[in-house]
Amino acid sequence: MVKLEPKSDAMIGVYGGTFDPVHFGHLRTILEVKETLGLQQVRLVPCAQPVHRGQPGATVEQRFSMLQKATEGLSGFVIDPREMVRDKPSYMIETLRSLRKQFLQQPLVLIMGGDAFGDIENWFQWQQLFDYAHIVVMQRPGSQFERVNLQPFLLAKLTHKSTDLARLNQGHLYFQTVIQLDISATQIRQKVARHESIDFLLPDNIIKYIADNDLYQGDLTAL
Ligand code: ATP
Repeated sequence: MVKLEPKSDAMIGVYGGTFDPVHFGHLRTILEVKETLGLQQVRLVPCAQPVHRGQPGATVEQRFSMLQKATEGLSGFVIDPREMVRDKPSYMIETLRSLRKQFLQQPLVLIMGGDAFGDIENWFQWQQLFDYAHIVVMQRPGSQFERVNLQPFLLAKLTHKSTDLARLNQGHLYFQTVIQLDISATQIRQKVARHESIDFLLPDNIIKYIADNDLYQGDLTAL
């Protein structure tokens, strides 16, 4: 696997999600992508008003705090509040437009899991995402997802060389193999509501934060 060294015009990773709560499935995979591609930084962007799902169990301020605590002391991780200050649904295309205004000359790399990528054609203005960023999909070792499912528009964006990402500021699709931990925030919320242990699924300081703030208690159907 080619490892790229960070440089001054180095790549900026963008990782959006609900993070309700953030867990090791998010953190381990994003760390791997950051290291392997040599990203200068990864910006984790909690969405304030998710478009394709119900209301989160924690407020966006609480989800922001959990992300901050989970990445304390890790260099190159930035928790990005730009979707919190927007008074409308959280569309990724708006987030990328706003990031592109801030980072004029650096490759932007939108990072997502295979489940999110499988739904991408339902995202608002999804084809235009490539006008602002590359898309890197984290996939399980051995997965054949790209060859089996790609439609022509996406196939035309596909590259198998990670070095292509540093050469252009946007426009490529790349699949990055990572260790996958089969953890979801939904499972964690349900376990908390059932008073089951969530040890070893997410950082201890987040487990404490959830308990201290009485998060994810109550009606399981709403979780
Ligand atoms: P929920 O269970 O509430 O739907 P989630 O755990 O899937 O939440 P999200 O905040 O919805 O987390 O996901 C944010 C991003 O993280 C998405 O791109 C998703 O594909 C990715 N992701 C979530 N869980 C994992 C995991 N275990 N491994 C790799 N990527 C993940």
